Amino acid sequence: MSLVLFNDLSGKKEPFKPIKEGQVRFYSCGPTVYDYFHVGNARPFIVFDVLRRWLEHEGYKVTFVQNFTDIDDKMIHRAHKENITVKELAEKFIAEYNKDADALGIKRPDVAPRATEHIPEIINTIEKIISNGHAYISEGDVYFDIQSWPKYGSLCKQNLEDLEAGARISPGEKKKDPLDFALWKAEKPGEPSWDSPWGKGRPGWHIECSAMSSKYLGDNIDIHSGGVDLMFPHHENEAAQSEAASNSGKPFVNYWLHNGFLLIDSEKMSKSLGNFLTARAAIEKYPPLALRFFMLSAHYRSPINFTTEGLEQAAAGVARLRNCKSDLDFASRKRKNNDSDFDINKFNDELKELDEKFSEAMNDDFNTAAAIGILFDVVYLINTSLKEHEFLPEEFFIASKNTLDEYDKILGIIGSDDAETEHDDETEEIENLIAERTQARKEKNFARSDEIRNMLKARGIILEDTPQGTKWKRELI
Ligand code: AMP
Ligand code: ZN
Repeated sequence: MSLVLFNDLSGKKEPFKPIKEGQVRFYSCGPTVYDYFHVGNARPFIVFDVLRRWLEHEGYKVTFVQNFTDIDDKMIHRAHKENITVKELAEKFIAEYNKDADALGIKRPDVAPRATEHIPEIINTIEKIISNGHAYISEGDVYFDIQSWPKYGSLCKQNLEDLEAGARISPGEKKKDPLDFALWKAEKPGEPSWDSPWGKGRPGWHIECSAMSSKYLGDNIDIHSGGVDLMFPHHENEAAQSEAASNSGKPFVNYWLHNGFLLIDSEKMSKSLGNFLTARAAIEKYPPLALRFFMLSAHYRSPINFTTEGLEQAAAGVARLRNCKSDLDFASRKRKNNDSDFDINKFNDELKELDEKFSEAMNDDFNTAAAIGILFDVVYLINTSLKEHEFLPEEFFIASKNTLDEYDKILGIIGSDDAETEHDDETEEIENLIAERTQARKEKNFARSDEIRNMLKARGIILEDTPQGTKWKRELI
């Protein structure tokens, strides 16, 4: 069975067909960095990390982009409250996000763009929407013109009339239609602002994802994901903006994926309801991988209830997996004997059969709950072999270890004591090379500096020298 994904655009499961063979352009909406993220927010970060890993396991070259929203009303209010700048607030919580996400085994995105570092791209996208006749300027604000966009509502499957019935024009908004939404907001006293063709101001929330997605992935991408609360209005607005800007007739996104809510006492966990637990607090109390296990033990689209018992069970699950791994390591030192009467062919056949089932589960709209069940069948098979045989052949240990490692590379719920991710190692290596190049340039050793630039270019890493230092990014696929 090849990969099928539930596409919210069509409302059904569809075979996954990438735009470019062997490649996947994947954008996931990231956090607003005004506070620590909570356990509900952690759900999309974890489940879409696993989808990304599964696609990579299947041989796709994935470019994964997840943004940081570092300017919006919440950022401005919190910065005022803390008496710091919006930029200082963003720096703090981006660092805190990375710390918690690393602890949860979430691979860093290939690109993690920030809205405030893409103001020219945002302005350019808005200009295109205006010139294509889908936005208008109103006293320094710019609004998307819903009446010019008949497709509006096609993602959330609601018609314009029903949507209009629920929409209001808030005081201070200078729009024609209650559903029109701001692409650009005119400057207000005490708020950060940037120059634009419409006067000083700042971007609306939705436009950043359209502008940054287009910059790093192009105008037509394979997968876009986020929590189900983002479907309307955020993703509906993103689709309208991106398609209105590109004017290519191509859809902005081929597959829209949304995770279900994490609930607490049957209510959505959220900052505004005050019923939240930060991921930081959860991982101070429970092993981080238990939280990850917990999220993956349900299908990503189903709602999931957050309970202490659920987390404790997940922690017990992680412990069982780790014990299997350490028993295996221990036995491989003491009980390895190639003269054993163990039937390795039968064992390998059983592993293969389970592996097929694992792939089937992951390919079925990446059903991690079923995949974890199969991982436990593997653990049972290994444990039984260890229990029933005093000596086992080397092949048994190699096959068992490889299987556990392979599944762990996808699910990330076993872990190891020396668990530094490959990606972090690579990031560190790139940053060391950049530091060496900066030093070489200071010493006017341009031969070495060019050598490093070319070496990185050959690996698909592009350098950009800015007044703040050298930045790097991965080449577009
Ligand atoms: P935010 O920082 O509020 O934009 O949220 C970041 C991500 O978390 C978005 O994809 C949201 O849809 C998602 N999210 C927020 N609350 C929950 C929840 N209770 N359950 C699942 N996902 C959530
Ligand atoms: Zn977004």
